[in-house]
Amino acid sequence: YIEYFNTKCSKSKEIITEAKNYIPGGVQHNLAFNYPFPIVITKAEGAYMYDADGNRYIDFLQAGGPTILGSNYKPVQEKVIELIKECGPVTGLFSEYELKIAKLINKHMPSVEMFRMLGSGTESVMAAIRIARLATKKKKVIKLGGAYHGWSDQMVYGLHVPGTRGFEAHGIPSSCYKHTQEVFPNNIEQLERKLKFNKLRGGTAAVIVEPVGPESGTRPIDKDYNKNVRELCDKYGALLIFDEVVTGFRIGLGGAQGYFDVKPDLTVFGKIVAGGYPGAGGVGGRRELIECLSAGLQGGKKRAYVGGTLAASPLSAAAGYYTLLEIEKTNACEVAGRAGDRLTKGLLELIEKYKLPYVAYNQGSICHLETTGTMFVKLLSLGSMNEIKRRKKMMEEMGAAYMAEGIITLAGSRMYTSLADTDDVIDEALNRFEKVFKNVEGV
Ligand code: PMP
Repeated sequence: YIEYFNTKCSKSKEIITEAKNYIPGGVQHNLAFNYPFPIVITKAEGAYMYDADGNRYIDFLQAGGPTILGSNYKPVQEKVIELIKECGPVTGLFSEYELKIAKLINKHMPSVEMFRMLGSGTESVMAAIRIARLATKKKKVIKLGGAYHGWSDQMVYGLHVPGTRGFEAHGIPSSCYKHTQEVFPNNIEQLERKLKFNKLRGGTAAVIVEPVGPESGTRPIDKDYNKNVRELCDKYGALLIFDEVVTGFRIGLGGAQGYFDVKPDLTVFGKIVAGGYPGAGGVGGRRELIECLSAGLQGGKKRAYVGGTLAASPLSAAAGYYTLLEIEKTNACEVAGRAGDRLTKGLLELIEKYKLPYVAYNQGSICHLETTGTMFVKLLSLGSMNEIKRRKKMMEEMGAAYMAEGIITLAGSRMYTSLADTDDVIDEALNRFEKVFKNVEGV
């Protein structure tokens, strides 16, 4: 497959080879598929992407989540172009879209009484933590092992594997992690022990969770986990932050909080909140919490500082607003969710047919294909670093094989479905997956 890939994507290879002289690793984005080399995309439309060699791919990367309406979705694009013609991409002043998107989010997520748009998910997590610390006057933040909450110094703690302090976190002084703690997903007793322990030592400002489980649900959590975390937060006076960067407007317009019927104090947004356009971030929650973002300006009470030159630019706010309206109109979350179910069901049948050591599962339009070994390592946090690296490499190699057969995934293991994924698209994808499973030995 690697040889086939080299021939099929020779133009991409040429461009990337030159790019390596100017760009670290040849690409500007971590999500870009790097093995054996990244492909260069020249066109994206609906469920498909096309590369510099003219190859067509089914796109299950979906840019890592923001394009739930499918790539290059015209009705939103037209509105954005109209707006750019009127006032360009940024003014630094207020546009009515800021109000419109805040009202629309509040309609679907009542816990978000107030909303402040920011530049990215990473920034928005930082803002939520700052707000929580200001409100509670406490410092500690507890996250779940393996959860990704952006790349701020305090949040890359233990990334990927619980207990491995600073893995992939080089260049960050350990003092930046001083107030970040981790617990195992699903282990509610451990969380309570930690909260109890912290109570004697200054308390916990917040517990932050991805409400479908760490790594966009790659490590799924129990049905009642979020409810239990909510109760513990109330008991110990910590705020509950839902990181809905991926799940917001994907699991449903009401987010994972609507699906699980759990009300967080603060919600972090990203991705779909700007419909795939720049400036995809925001933080929202209870009025008295979010208001601290304005108090300084009005000479009022304590203020948590946030910033961003492009935050809530007319382009970001309008793109987000029209994207949410289109999701309402098209039922995109449900349609994409059904496509995710169909893809997962088909993959499970193929796993059974070819006796693969794989598991497939999904939370609506967030789909996972993992080796059973990887799941074991991830869920129980067992296994050596070498074992994890070996399995990661294996998934990457499989990802390259899927790519050679015309399917783009996130590192061979995660897939996002969209409104554009009709039954025909999913069936075509399953045929291509089957080709790989037939051809690859020892998966
Ligand atoms: N939180 C979660 C759950 C995410 O998946 C991501 C990005 N994949 C982030 C935060 C960071 O968002 P951004 O890339 O916009 O900084």
